[in-house]
Amino acid sequence: MATKRQTIALFGGTFDPVHFGHLRMALELRQALGFDEMRLLPSHQPRHRQSPGVSSQQRSEMLALALAGCSELQLDERELHRGGDTFTVDTLEELRAELGPQVSISFCMGLDSLLNLHLWHRWQRLLELAHLVVVTRPGWHLPGEEKQGEQGEHHPLAELLKYHRAEVADLHDRPHGCLVVREQTLLPISATQIRQLLGSGQSPRFLLPATVLQYIEDHQLYIESVATGGQ
Ligand code: ATP
Repeated sequence: MATKRQTIALFGGTFDPVHFGHLRMALELRQALGFDEMRLLPSHQPRHRQSPGVSSQQRSEMLALALAGCSELQLDERELHRGGDTFTVDTLEELRAELGPQVSISFCMGLDSLLNLHLWHRWQRLLELAHLVVVTRPGWHLPGEEKQGEQGEHHPLAELLKYHRAEVADLHDRPHGCLVVREQTLLPISATQIRQLLGSGQSPRFLLPATVLQYIEDHQLYIESVATGGQ
């Protein structure tokens, strides 16, 4: 009998800070798509792109607090340890070398991230290393799939979607090369909103785990974000 292929999923982001939108999305994806592992992957931010006073290590510590006691989601800090500019393609090369050619690796992202994929470093290589799982909100449409009667501009990713679009079962049958689109209702929360609330002295309670909010308060994070534009 053929052994079941191991399936590992990654969900990358700045998590500045992590909130319930990220956590629900990662958990629902793991459950719905049947991944063996779902890893949250905080990206390293060069100092000039960091929120003022918030280091990459602190973003990761907040993620660790959010995931404490949650066996379904793991933290993968490899991009922080690599330092410098972090490119997803390098992370996937590294993981592929570690896990071998047979393990299925899925890189998950929101539609907002997919729309900029053609600007990512060596983006054509991504599907040679992993699958891409794109989460869309109900009612949104993808590049090249404009509604009837609409004249959508040609998007550089339309071809990618046309040739690599696949089903969930393919994520389990193959190690890489598929693009799966999953419609999922997302919680209307953003890290920007949380930074703005904190920056204006208001509470973001109930948008993120209480342990993360406590960490933010203890370290007095994000209190300058409105004055400096929050990015
Ligand atoms: P910011 O407001 O700073 O842009 P963000 O809240 O969008 O931050 P990121 O760390 O930039 O968070 O996003 C990481 C990933 O999480 C992206 O793929 C993004 O599409 C997804 N994401 C962001 N907000 C939500 C949400 N409310 N529900 C589900 N996924 C989300």
